[in-house]
Amino acid sequence: MKTNLNPYWWLEAPPLELEPTTPVTQADVVIIGGGYTGFGAAIPLIRAGLTVVVVEKGLFGEGASTRNGGITSGNLRLSLSGLTNRFGVDKARAFLTEGSDAREDLYSFIQDENIECDFKLTGRLTGAVNTASLESMKRESESLNLLLGVEAQVVNKSDLKDYLDSDKYCGGLLRPDIGGIHPAKLLHQMISIAQVNGVHLLPMTAVESVTKQNSRIPGFIVKTTKGSITAGHVIAATNGYTDKGLPWLRRRLIPIVSEMIATAEISENLVKNLMPKSNMFGEALELGFYYRASPDGKRILLGGRRLSKNTTVSRQRLQEGLTTILPQLKETLIENHWCGFVAFPFDQLPKLSVNEGVIYPTGFCGSGTIWARWLGKKAAMMVLGDLNDSVFSSVPFRTMPFYTGEPWFIPLAMSYYSIRDKLIQKNKP
Ligand SMILES: Cc1cc2nc3c(=O)[nH]c(=O)nc-3n(C[C@H](O)[C@H](O)[C@H](O)COP(=O)(O)OP(=O)(O)OC[C@H]3O[C@@H](n4cnc5c(N)ncnc54)[C@H](O)[C@@H]3O)c2cc1C
Repeated sequence: MKTNLNPYWWLEAPPLELEPTTPVTQADVVIIGGGYTGFGAAIPLIRAGLTVVVVEKGLFGEGASTRNGGITSGNLRLSLSGLTNRFGVDKARAFLTEGSDAREDLYSFIQDENIECDFKLTGRLTGAVNTASLESMKRESESLNLLLGVEAQVVNKSDLKDYLDSDKYCGGLLRPDIGGIHPAKLLHQMISIAQVNGVHLLPMTAVESVTKQNSRIPGFIVKTTKGSITAGHVIAATNGYTDKGLPWLRRRLIPIVSEMIATAEISENLVKNLMPKSNMFGEALELGFYYRASPDGKRILLGGRRLSKNTTVSRQRLQEGLTTILPQLKETLIENHWCGFVAFPFDQLPKLSVNEGVIYPTGFCGSGTIWARWLGKKAAMMVLGDLNDSVFSSVPFRTMPFYTGEPWFIPLAMSYYSIRDKLIQKNKP
């Protein structure tokens, strides 16, 4: 069987072939990029009565927002202690509290708007590959419960089988506040809310430059491949797909390829035996895998970072990852294998920055199902003049000397993390 290189999610929710709306030359707000961030901003702005245009260089629904695992993690790469060392106790807590608010906000949005995106608050189990990691999970769960009251719990090896039929881990951390969605259905419905409310959608239109008007005329000229638009405000929502049209942002983001596989249909009974509580899963490793059952309970999906440019080699790595966790799937065929771009700032923290008047909600480090929509919405609040209370707007957004957006150092970094992960797994328990 030939592997399908489109996301599994596109079977039910493929990219949209929209007719472009009538040409627009002027708008209150131009949003560049049509993913969760872009529509997270567009919906509150149009509802506030502004004219809003979303410019998308591909089809709507082609970026990372329809390619992801659908795990509503709202992760931060830095732990509470890492954040405390860098920012002090109060600010460290503010980051985690905002994550909790953002997660709740997505869940309320799905409920209030009647969005059918197979959302289930399943809980996410992160597997520990050695006892040191399990010990650190115990400490983390205590701080998380104290701070956020999320009722995270450590699962010992003897109880792990209730969640996952695997021998890979010596225990894990269960977060009941994290769940799963069908990512493409969520985006499609955000697009349709925006459309119904009158947002202008410009597909197959790339922004080539954004120029601030002079001091006498406020606003911007947004030059696109299909003409220019005069805008009062610009929100750049391009994240991992940022190109040369936004050079300031490109110098500050490291694009990384994340990829996933989906098995062919297997029996629902087998999936139920492997994952009895249908949780979302992750691993406490730098380059750990994330995985889950499909919403219909008939397939397993697994993802990770891409380490090889060769598609066959990278698919084999994911498949080996899957069968190391679940050897019961050794004979199971892989039906879909796809990839997409995520974006990391150098300090590995999401951003809500403003430069020369352009607003940049970005840098979600592979956890954008929560952060992208939330920081898009916060960007909208900035346009509307609301109090900006996001802790992410206070974090400097730095670049590195000579960096222009071509991350030549990625293979070195990946090799380093890969070796570290191997050592951790070798020194089990
Ligand atoms: C394989 C994979 C698995 C993932 N798994 C998870 C997960 O389980 N949980 C989680 O929380 N996150 C996950 N993520 C991350 C998550 O998908 C992203 O963080 C999130 O979708 C980012 O949303 P966005 O709207 O900012 O960007 P995107 O959805 O990527 O949208 C950006 C858009 O900008 C457009 N664009 C770029 N430049 C221009 C231009 N010049 N002009 C016009 N348009 C432009 C692009 O075409 C693109 O459509 C995963 C990502 C991938 C790729």
